[in-house]
Amino acid sequence: MAHLQVSGLSTRSRNVPRETLDGFAAGLEGSLLYPDDDGFSEAIALWNGMIKKRPALIVRPSTTQDVVATVNFVRDNALELSIKGGGHNIAGLALSDGGLTLDMSGMRDVNVDVNGLLARVGPGCTLGDVDQATQAHGLATTLGFVSATGVAGLTVGGGFGYLTRRFGWTVDDLEEVEVVTADGLVRRASRSVNDDLFWALRGGGGNFGIVTEFVYRLHEVGPQITGGIIAWPASEADGVLALFRKITEASPRELTAVVLRRNAPPAPWLPEAAHGKPMIAMVVCHTGSLEQAQEDLASIRSHGQPLADMIQVRDYVAQQKMLDATQPKGMHYYWKSEFLPGLSDEIFATFNAQFVDLKAPANQIVLFQVGGAPNDHPEDDGAVGNRDATFACVIQAMWPPDSSAGDANREWVRSAWQAIKPHSTGGNYINFQTADETDERTIESYRDNYRRLETIKAKYDPNNVFRVNRNIRP
Ligand SMILES: Cc1cc2nc3c(=O)[nH]c(=O)nc-3n(C[C@H](O)[C@H](O)[C@H](O)COP(=O)(O)OP(=O)(O)OC[C@H]3O[C@@H](n4cnc5c(N)ncnc54)[C@H](O)[C@@H]3O)c2cc1C
Repeated sequence: MAHLQVSGLSTRSRNVPRETLDGFAAGLEGSLLYPDDDGFSEAIALWNGMIKKRPALIVRPSTTQDVVATVNFVRDNALELSIKGGGHNIAGLALSDGGLTLDMSGMRDVNVDVNGLLARVGPGCTLGDVDQATQAHGLATTLGFVSATGVAGLTVGGGFGYLTRRFGWTVDDLEEVEVVTADGLVRRASRSVNDDLFWALRGGGGNFGIVTEFVYRLHEVGPQITGGIIAWPASEADGVLALFRKITEASPRELTAVVLRRNAPPAPWLPEAAHGKPMIAMVVCHTGSLEQAQEDLASIRSHGQPLADMIQVRDYVAQQKMLDATQPKGMHYYWKSEFLPGLSDEIFATFNAQFVDLKAPANQIVLFQVGGAPNDHPEDDGAVGNRDATFACVIQAMWPPDSSAGDANREWVRSAWQAIKPHSTGGNYINFQTADETDERTIESYRDNYRRLETIKAKYDPNNVFRVNRNIRP
């Protein structure tokens, strides 16, 4: 009898008879891929090129029933299971090393209910898929800043983007899900049905089941907004940061501003003389009326001597893709994040100090404004928490796979993070955690919501079938 050896749980390996695999594959509407099959290598190529995990099997489901069959199969054969949405998780949580990866990319429908202001979204969708479909009707839900990111991983981790200040974390607009739990049952969950499961899925990650449909509330946005990037030489950092604080304290929720420090990339929108030199930049997105945007953005655009000002009226969909090219797939990435309760002179001094003499061409420190609608909810409204945050600070390093800069870059991120950490709310974003983060960091992400997550995990996944994630143990 032919056997495929599947090295599963970390302490032992499993033999799964070929007939068992064939029987399982025959029952799928989608496909089962072995390592030599076409599409396998492509399926395991993640956004973070640093991740080198290799599943023994990939299942590409076409239907919810395929997902049910896969959950039953991995449970019955004691295989490790991972779920791949957009494959963007920096820690490489999409892949199981030696187990079975469920690649959801074949379930990519978006149905927009224009009258009901709802979007029904398949778990393989990217943010771009959803924005494209909803913006055809002048509608949007809160999604993140890079359009190739998977909607599934972003949502189950909480989610934030340019619309967060107006409408909250992504999970604040989540109305309902269809989810396959560890017992192989298909359940609906919402604020009124299976409300504990729904609460946990609103930020608790992939710990509780496999979501096969997300239902989001939509809002009128755009389709034209005012947004873009404006950059100054780093010599203007103090003035720009003071302006950033003023803007973010006073501006309406329609305006979201982000400030970042890095060395200027060799991009055509920046003057050649600035390339490689330290700069400070603001990324802005104003989703109010075009007149209001002009007024609210005037003080930014007239500040100092910008190197370049790319703020303009543009499609919301274009704004959502504007930063895509800055985060190419396959590079090596290492990040750390902290949520901040506000901005202080000490934070700015730290922010600036981390940048002195930094030679790395693509590393950056970013402050995302998130204060507004998330703070209107109580801390325990969904597992996501972090309702005291008004900014997210992210320290990011990126380098090519063949570079020897990895150790130095990781060291820079860690030391800048140590400097920022004393200013944190105590919380960090679960979706920005790297593979080397400790359980302590997971607990810090959820703080007071963590205990309830443990209880719900014990109820819905007592054997920890869903463990390739920032794991909450039952
Ligand atoms: C360039 C870049 C920009 C980003 N920008 C933002 C941003 O603006 N805002 C923001 O909030 N986040 C942002 N993120 C973080 C992002 O939300 C996470 O990386 C997220 O995990 C990506 O989702 P994915 O589906 O692509 O992940 P994957 O790597 O495919 O999956 C990650 C994990 O999500 C869970 N998961 C996936 N699918 C399902 C499912 N169907 N059911 C249950 N669990 C599932 C699983 O635990 C899985 O291991 C960004 C990430 C990158 C790389």
